[in-house]
Amino acid sequence: MRTTLDKFSGARSNVSIIGKYDRIFKRLTHLVASMIFFAGLFLIPVAGRPQTAEPTPSFGMVIHGGAGTISREKMTPEKEAAYRSKLEEALATGYEILKKGGTSFDAVEATIRIMEDSPLFNAGKGAVFTSDGTNELDASIMDGATLEAGAVSGVKHVKNPISLARLVLEKSPHVMLVGAGAEDFAVEYQLERVSQYYFFTENRWKSLVRVKEKVAQEQAKESSDEKSEKMEFYGEKGTVGAVALDQAGNLAAGTSTGGLTNKMFGRVGDSPIIGAGTYANNETCAVSCTGQGEYYMRLLVAYDIHALMAYEKLPLAEAANTVIMKKLKELGGSGGAIAIDKSGNIAMPFNTKGMYRGYVKEDGKFVVKFYEKE
Ligand code: ASP
Repeated sequence: MRTTLDKFSGARSNVSIIGKYDRIFKRLTHLVASMIFFAGLFLIPVAGRPQTAEPTPSFGMVIHGGAGTISREKMTPEKEAAYRSKLEEALATGYEILKKGGTSFDAVEATIRIMEDSPLFNAGKGAVFTSDGTNELDASIMDGATLEAGAVSGVKHVKNPISLARLVLEKSPHVMLVGAGAEDFAVEYQLERVSQYYFFTENRWKSLVRVKEKVAQEQAKESSDEKSEKMEFYGEKGTVGAVALDQAGNLAAGTSTGGLTNKMFGRVGDSPIIGAGTYANNETCAVSCTGQGEYYMRLLVAYDIHALMAYEKLPLAEAANTVIMKKLKELGGSGGAIAIDKSGNIAMPFNTKGMYRGYVKEDGKFVVKFYEKE
C-alpha cells in the first residue's frame, strides 16, 4: 500500500520526469531556434541581394585617324563633324562585333575598312600621293593570340589593303608581300581592285603640290650635303589604325596608310612593319602607330611598348608614354600611338599638336577626340 509519502514521492518523481522532458524540450527548442537564426544569418543576405547577371567580360577598342598638326584654329565645324561622325561609325562597327562576342581580329579589320573607304583619311580612298603622283598603300594586321601577322606594302590597286594583309596572314605561308606580288595575290583571292584614279582626291593632290614647293624652296637654300642628312616629315595626318580586346581576352592590332606625301617611289614606312607600326601580343597589349615612319622603324615603337610591359613590367600607359613622349621625341620623331592591354586599359599618347582618336568600352559610349588639350 502506498503511503502519502509514497504518493508524494511518486508525485515528485512524476514532476521530476516531466521537468526533465521539459528541459530536454526547451534545449531542443533552443537548438532549433539557434540553427534557424544562424542559417538566417547566411541566407537572408543572399536572398536579399539583388539578382546580378554574369559579370560582363571586359572588351574594348581604340582607333586613330592619324597624328599631326591638328589645331582648333584650322578646324571648321563642318570638318570636325565629318571626322567625328566617321570615327564614330568606325567605332560602332568594331563595337557591334565585339559586343556579340566576335573576335578582336575581325573587329580590327572591319573598323579599318570603314576608314579606308573614307576620303578623310590617309588610307585606302584618301591615300596621299608619292613624289611621282601615284598612290602606294601599306597595311598590316596582327593577332595577339597566335602572334600571326600579315602585311602588304606598295600596293596600287587594292581598295582595302587591310583585307589583303589579312589574306597574307591566312592564306600564305608568309608575313609580308610587296608590290606586284601582293597585287597578284589580291587577284588570286578576288579581292576588290580599283584603278589608280580611285585614289585621286583634290585635297591630297594639293598637299603634294604644296610639299613639292616647300621642298624646292628648301633645296634652293641648303647645300646638297645638308639635304642628304635631313629627313623632313611631310606626314599627311590620316593614317588609320585600330586595336581591340575581345570578350575571350584576345588582342589584335592593325594599321593602314598611304604613307607620306611626296615619298619616294618604293618607300616603305612603319605601318606595314610588324613591331614598328603594328604589334599585338595577348601577354601584354595591342598597338597601332601613326607618325614619321622612319623613326618608328628605327625604334620599333610598337614592339618597344610591348617590351616595356613584358620585361620591365610597366603598366600600359607608362610604357606607351615612355616610348612616344620620351624615346621617340628624343630621337626627333613625331607622332602618336594607340594601345589596349589585356585588362582593357587604354593609352593614346602623341607628341604632335593633335591626333584623331577614339575609343569604346563595354558600356558602348563612343569617345572621340582631336586635340592635345581635351
Ligand atoms: N606612319 C606612316 C608612314 O610613315 C605615316 C603616318 O602615320 O602619318 O608611312
